[in-house]
This record gives sequence, structure tokens and C-alpha cells, in this order.
Amino acid sequence: MQLENYIRDIQGFPKEGILFKDITPLLNDAQATQECLKTLAASLKGQKINKVVGAESRGFLFGILLAQELNAGFVPVRKPGKLPYDTVSVSYDLEYGTDILEIHKDAIQKGDKVLIHDDVLATGGTAKAVCELVEKLGGEIVQLNFLMELTFLNGREKLNGYDIFAAVTY
Ligand code: 5GP
Repeated sequence: MQLENYIRDIQGFPKEGILFKDITPLLNDAQATQECLKTLAASLKGQKINKVVGAESRGFLFGILLAQELNAGFVPVRKPGKLPYDTVSVSYDLEYGTDILEIHKDAIQKGDKVLIHDDVLATGGTAKAVCELVEKLGGEIVQLNFLMELTFLNGREKLNGYDIFAAVTY
């Protein structure tokens, strides 16, 4: 099965000049979703994972499925003000301005083996910020795991030293 066939191009979303990769057709198909989950999980080659960290909001979708598949806990990373308990936060640069991401301070224990998942690796800014949060809490990052990588945006350059896997690359 070609997962690419379930990812749709949307021209001009969320703003003009952007070609958005839409994963809702994949989520809409049970078999494609299962196949995608198996591919994402198989990349771990049996390495032990304690926590899967998913970035708001599309990182939650396969993040929670992966956590179940790997028998690990799931940890949401969210935009500011969304998490109810005490948080640790990090600010990171966007194309214009900065943004903030937060994690619950007790979500990861020192030495936990962590898998970070998001739907897309684009410029790498989001993934780098999530890495910082996990490392602030003492987690050991085993892999950065993505449904797809937009290689022309060179996200890997920001993520030197990490093991990176993407099920589909463009
Ligand atoms: P980055 O921080 O690597 O530039 O952007 C990655 C974040 O933006 C991810 O959280 C991802 O959900 C979102 N994103 C950027 N481009 C796309 C896209 O074409 N499709 C989807 N589904 N998400 C995108």
C-alpha cells in the first residue's frame, strides 16, 4: 500500500503560497491508518520506549496510537494555557515572531526513553522545541518520528544528532 495515495495536496492553505499536506484521507481509511501505524512502529526495531510525546494537535493522532502499539504512556505537548497542571515551557522562532509550547512537569521521569511524534517535519522548529522540553525533564530521546518529511525545508539541519524517521518523504 502506498501511503502517499492517502495524503492530499491543498494549495493555498492555511495561507497563500503554501502547499498543505492533508492527512485526513489517510485517517478516513482504517486499513491505511493501520498500515501507517505499523510502519511508524516498525522503525523502532524493538527498542524500548516509555513515553510517546505528541505535538499539538495532529501529533496527537498517531501519537496515541503509537503509544498503545509500543505499550508506552502518551504525553501531550500543547500551546500555552491549555494544560491544567504545572508546566515547563519553551519558546521557539517561527517565520514571523515566536511561539510557545508546554508540557506537564511530571509527564516524563529522568531517564525515560522517549519517542517524539508529529505528523509533519517541515522546518524542524516544532520538533526542536519539543526536544528541548523533553530534555529539560531529563528524558532520553530515542527517535523523532514523523508521518512525513518535507525534505526541501531542511528540518534535519536543526535536529543534528537525533535519529529521525519519516514514513513518507517529499
Ligand atoms: P515545522 O515546525 O517543522 O516548520 O512545522 C511542523 C509543524 O507544522 C507540525 O506540527 C505540522 O503539524 C505543521 N505542518 C507544517 N506543514 C504542514 C503540512 O503541509 N501539513 C500538515 N498536516 N501539517 C503541517
